[in-house]
Amino acid sequence: MSKFWSEAVKRSSPYVPGEQMNISNLIKLNTNENPYPPSQQVKEAIQSEIDTNLQLYPSPTVDDLREELATTYQLNKDQVFVGNGSDEVLAFSFMAFFDPGRIIRFPAVSYSFYPVYAKLFDIPYEKVALNRDFTLPVEKFFQADGGVIFPNPNAPTSIYLDLQAIREILDNNPDCVVIIDEAYIDFASASAVSLINTYENLLVIQTFSKSRSLAGLRVGFALGNKQLIEGLNRIKDSFNSYTIDRLAIAGAKAALKDTTYFDYTITKIKQTREWVTSEMKKRGFCVLPSSANFIFVTHYKEAAEDLYKWFKENGILIRYFQSPGIDNYLRITIGTDEQMRTFFEKLDYILEKKNSKEASANN
Ligand SMILES: *Cc1c(COP(=O)(O)O)cnc(C)c1O
Repeated sequence: MSKFWSEAVKRSSPYVPGEQMNISNLIKLNTNENPYPPSQQVKEAIQSEIDTNLQLYPSPTVDDLREELATTYQLNKDQVFVGNGSDEVLAFSFMAFFDPGRIIRFPAVSYSFYPVYAKLFDIPYEKVALNRDFTLPVEKFFQADGGVIFPNPNAPTSIYLDLQAIREILDNNPDCVVIIDEAYIDFASASAVSLINTYENLLVIQTFSKSRSLAGLRVGFALGNKQLIEGLNRIKDSFNSYTIDRLAIAGAKAALKDTTYFDYTITKIKQTREWVTSEMKKRGFCVLPSSANFIFVTHYKEAAEDLYKWFKENGILIRYFQSPGIDNYLRITIGTDEQMRTFFEKLDYILEKKNSKEASANN
């Protein structure tokens, strides 16, 4: 604490991202990155941008990437906003649509960046408890005062909420903005994007970080009616005209165009997810039904925190949250088949070791 800090800095409590350790052979299953590299076309597009244009400022309005996104999602360009990762788009959205003095709602078990933005911007919030099975209690999001935000599929639970429920939430919040954070939607089913032309209070946020293997490039975007997008532009242009650099624009455009590679990696990750889920169940884990590129699990006997620590000492990072209600759960990103085979080898080793220890203690 410093006497020179502003009130905003004093009341902030910054987000702590998953560990990024620099150890070779480390298997990273802790931050929901894509285990596959980006499309080859991304590399070529970035190289060509370096060769020709990097000395020039990028387009402040990111028109060609927005055009490409509009085509992909069958919207108009003025219904698309692009930001430096969806975290930035989320931060701008909190500023653009939520107000100090009006209480917003989000799930009690959810993306832990939401309370961070709320504190920074002085927006009061209410955490809505999930149902016992970790599904969203839809009616509890009705008639919110200041707005609603939740991820779909939810993180870290991986559970998907269907569009009918989302419609009900939108219908019951006509006077505030409902933000659906679709960071994992490409691993799930129907996106709320199809509702954008029906609901003026809907903002959908997506990212290139997970399904398009570009976490390192930092590109996220928001889709919504043009007044909402105009609000986001006003915030962005009050901060920084060039939040998206030339390499990011070139790479993101190329990633969007390579639908063959996108479909291939999504299908692959979903297949691995189904295989990993059944293998986890065989080993005594309860696995929540996942529509994402990660699973959320708890073991009937072994403590989650012990498993997390043991895996870390043995070269595999998974995510453990010391938060009430989920402190015996682990979030495990779906890696390649090979990474997951290594994961199971290590898991079998530790489960067996613990079992034999227990057996000898009982004799
Ligand atoms: C990963 C993630 C984000 C952030 O994505 P970036 O585009 O990399 O900033 C936002 N929301 C949720 C729920 C996420 O899991």
